[in-house]
Amino acid sequence: MNKAISDKVIGRLGQYRRLLGRLAEEGARFVFSHDLASMARVTAAQVRRDLMVLGASGNPAKGYSVSGLLEDIEAFLDAPDGQNVALVGVGNLGRALLAFFAGRSTKLRIVAAFDANPEKTGRVIHGCRCYGMDALEAEIQREAVTVGVIAVPADAAQEIAEHLIETGIRGLLNFAPVRLSVPANVYVEDIDMTVSMERVAYMARQNAVSLEKL
Ligand code: NAD
Repeated sequence: MNKAISDKVIGRLGQYRRLLGRLAEEGARFVFSHDLASMARVTAAQVRRDLMVLGASGNPAKGYSVSGLLEDIEAFLDAPDGQNVALVGVGNLGRALLAFFAGRSTKLRIVAAFDANPEKTGRVIHGCRCYGMDALEAEIQREAVTVGVIAVPADAAQEIAEHLIETGIRGLLNFAPVRLSVPANVYVEDIDMTVSMERVAYMARQNAVSLEKL
């Protein structure tokens, strides 16, 4: 991948893809950058800069082709044969993730789940086989997994991250509320719902105060 392209651009392209998918379902054939921008809550200039990364250019009279952009984003973001994902931690969140991703994308597939609790292993949960931790390395290699999802308690997350990295995984999606220490060549994305909830709650209070002043 081109190193000059930031993860923020990659994130916005994924967001545009979802919005464009919705537009395509509604029968739209073209979209202007300012319309996509208002749906994505960014500026039109930002949309145009992001789409230039794809080499996509719009028609001044009609805008961008929706199907053309979808193809360009897919060609840019997705590995041609897709990528396999492994989940560690099949608790409340892990099961919800398996249910959510089951059959959703042909390009990103959760192909194996792992848990330390023997009651959770040896079963197929939402179409995904759940293994004990002793099978982690072999299964990850057999399935050519390149992405790991961490859904274990905070105190186990660092050890699991190291274990996944030892198998060769270089991308981690971490749901545990802990800052992982990883080598520079490993990309980690943290999802912390508590931080998001606190931010929304804070902003809701600020907006309530400013509304009172109206
Ligand atoms: P949970 O207790 O229901 O599940 C945790 C799972 O991890 C269990 O199945 C357990 O057996 C397994 N596990 C524990 N130690 C392990 C180890 N060393 N190796 C392998 N498996 C191990 O917890 P949960 O609610 O699913 O949350 C999981 C993580 O996600 C936590 O860090 C939590 O803070 C975070 N999180 C949860 C939610 C949520 O909605 N449940 C939301 C955001 C973040």
